[in-house]
Amino acid sequence: MNTVGDLFGAGKMFLPQVVKSARVMKRAVAHLIPYIEAEKAAGTARSSNGKILLATVKGDVHDIGKNIVGVVLQCNNFEVIDLGVMVPAARILEEAAKQGADMIGLSGLITPSLDEMVHIAREMQRLGLKLPLLIGGATTSPAHTAVRIDPQYQGPVVYVKDASRAVGVCQQLVGPETRDPYVAQVKSDHAARREQHAGRKAKAPTFTIGAARADKARIDWAAAANVPPTPRRLGVHVLDDYPLDELTRYIDWTPFFQAWELRGRFPDILTDPVVGGEAEKLYADARRMLRTAIQERWLVARGVYGLFPANQVADDDVAVYADAGRTERLATLHFLRQQKDLPEGKAHGALADYIAPEGVAPDYIGAFAVTAGIGIEAPLARFAAVHDDYSAILLKVLADRLAEAFAERLHERIRREFWGYAPDEALTNEQLVREEYRGIRPAPGYPACPDHTEKAALFALLDPPKNAGIELTESYAMHPAAAVSGWYFAHRQAHYVNVGRVDRDQVEDYARRKGMQLAEMERWLAPNLGYEPGPA
Ligand code: SAH
Repeated sequence: MNTVGDLFGAGKMFLPQVVKSARVMKRAVAHLIPYIEAEKAAGTARSSNGKILLATVKGDVHDIGKNIVGVVLQCNNFEVIDLGVMVPAARILEEAAKQGADMIGLSGLITPSLDEMVHIAREMQRLGLKLPLLIGGATTSPAHTAVRIDPQYQGPVVYVKDASRAVGVCQQLVGPETRDPYVAQVKSDHAARREQHAGRKAKAPTFTIGAARADKARIDWAAAANVPPTPRRLGVHVLDDYPLDELTRYIDWTPFFQAWELRGRFPDILTDPVVGGEAEKLYADARRMLRTAIQERWLVARGVYGLFPANQVADDDVAVYADAGRTERLATLHFLRQQKDLPEGKAHGALADYIAPEGVAPDYIGAFAVTAGIGIEAPLARFAAVHDDYSAILLKVLADRLAEAFAERLHERIRREFWGYAPDEALTNEQLVREEYRGIRPAPGYPACPDHTEKAALFALLDPPKNAGIELTESYAMHPAAAVSGWYFAHRQAHYVNVGRVDRDQVEDYARRKGMQLAEMERWLAPNLGYEPGPA
């Protein structure tokens, strides 16, 4: 099995092949497990390369990338203990000690996980641990690892970009000859990066929040083209057990291949000279599993949406009302505005600009939360029982794709039927993926509205735990992981504004509007701060 991992690390084998070969290998040796355990007990077993404990940190749910890393490491004769998702620091440290782990690998997808990783590093230091700490996942970066995590822990801290890097890193860390020089190199790389970071003082945005607001897009709400359309169906509506076969044609397949570290656009990727053969096999497996999953009801899709009277208030906020008379306010949504330098003539945007101001015209906003991951645990348990990592990962990736497809399909129905401002729209899936329609569905936590805590308002409006089986973790991640939520804006000029770096003046104002302490607000907005947080 070592060869498989090496070939992959060297770019000579593709990830789906590696994961499939792990299944073959594990099934072949499954009947030997009692003997292996006995040998271990007797102390006669051939030792593995080392034992690594993997976990997705507290409050975070995404684990596909981490599962893939685990499989690839197993192919290289590492022993892997995967503790799953939403794992508290104490449990990670207890298990590492109990199981005698040689390394700990942490994974995270959303911003708050960065702080959690810093906390774990600090705990490892406090406990006097020496074992290597590996850091990975979409929210992590070499800079964050060097600047925030590494200084907390004297043991080795290594940022692992993707599965193909994991093997090399772990081998270096366990090799008796390579270990010391490698760790020294990593520590000195971190130090260099920290120095670089300190020298390059965060460039403060040039616009004060006042100046940015004065420079917002001017929309003439009296013009016929800008009159907000009235939804046909106001209020909260539940879509229970949504037909999955209706969703499959809305799947955007390009990210499916990305999840398997195969680069290229669908459908061209299927005929790509390098990855085409592998992509085609993977695609055939996916279509087959999708058919079975739908026939045998492995997954259930549930969703909820709401369309509400709304108006922009106090510059950058949106008031959401219970009634057309706008007497009862259900929620206030808070948005951030661009403060960075923009090309001449480009307005400083905030999503609130696309909702008509109070008193100017009656307007509306929508919200949605959908999942395709209800019931996924049972088939995953069946795959785990037969050591079939390939099918488990395939199903998780497909569930994610179906959730996105559900978001796409529901948005289409909103435009055509429920809000009804584009009843005659008829776009192909390709056109939908290119967003050739009127309106947007920005998701809290993404660049146009990077504050994850706004999901609290979304959940208060829609009650997704009750209406769709979707829960919010303490870090505002959605569970099941195969879930999507966001807002609907119908204005024809609405687009995904990239908020970017904001200055303290706006964060202070934003924290005040949300009734949150500045320091807490700064933690949630950490990646967007254009200044060093701390005493003013
Ligand atoms: N078709 C793709 C869609 C990817 S983008 C897929 O299936 O994966 C997915 C969603 O992320 C968008 O529909 C939107 O809800 C959100 N999104 C993307 N860019 C955003 C941005 N800049 N700000 C806010 N939300 C964004």
